[in-house]
Amino acid sequence: MQTIADRLTNARQEIEHAIANAHRPAHCVQLLAVSKTKPVSDITAAYEAGQRQFGENYIQEGVSKIEQLKTLTDIEWHMIGPIQSNKTKLVAEHFDWVQSVDRLKIAKRLNEQRPADMPPLNVCIQLNLEQEATKSGILPAELPDIVEAISGMPNLRLRGLMAIPAANVSESQQRDTLSQLHALYAQLQATTEGIDTLSVGMSNDMALAIAHGSTMVRIGTAIFGSRS
Ligand SMILES: *Cc1c(COP(=O)(O)O)cnc(C)c1O
Repeated sequence: MQTIADRLTNARQEIEHAIANAHRPAHCVQLLAVSKTKPVSDITAAYEAGQRQFGENYIQEGVSKIEQLKTLTDIEWHMIGPIQSNKTKLVAEHFDWVQSVDRLKIAKRLNEQRPADMPPLNVCIQLNLEQEATKSGILPAELPDIVEAISGMPNLRLRGLMAIPAANVSESQQRDTLSQLHALYAQLQATTEGIDTLSVGMSNDMALAIAHGSTMVRIGTAIFGSRS
């Protein structure tokens, strides 16, 4: 049976393989291990195999794990799930990154609630590229205004963009969406300081995302097994 350490090694090899195929520099894509619903012991196993960046989707669950693992001070905790505005304080007080900033109100509250003795909270703006009404995220046309607003918030540090492109579409549609995302990212990088993160790509579209400039892939099942 494969251990978490084995699966992490495989995932890292797949990432480096996709990077090489895309003619990009080695190690230019980070691996976020998505540990939602998985026990703390799984996170510890991944940590012992060298993994340091973990993603959680559910606030209460994430905060509980962060508290249980607080002696592992070099873990970087990323919030990647939807955030209700009455839960922002817990997020601001515990996480290192929030990738799922999907409206201005959330950014404002995170900025106000980030404790003064903690470093600025790293944030990505989550984009809704397919403009699906049911999907959370900022529409591309709304991006300049929210970028400007976040840039003026002292307790947030804007790092880039995050997206969850639809998986049930043709490869050419996936490519179109990823190209559009990369163009928005390049534009943001050209106009805003400190932008270094394009978080896109999961188990099923990882290689394609890396070919389109992803700098961080978010992998759960392939590392920790299915969530049942
Ligand atoms: C669950 C989740 C992932 C990981 O998905 P897997 O299919 O388990 O690899 C990545 N990103 C987000 C936003 C998620 O919610």
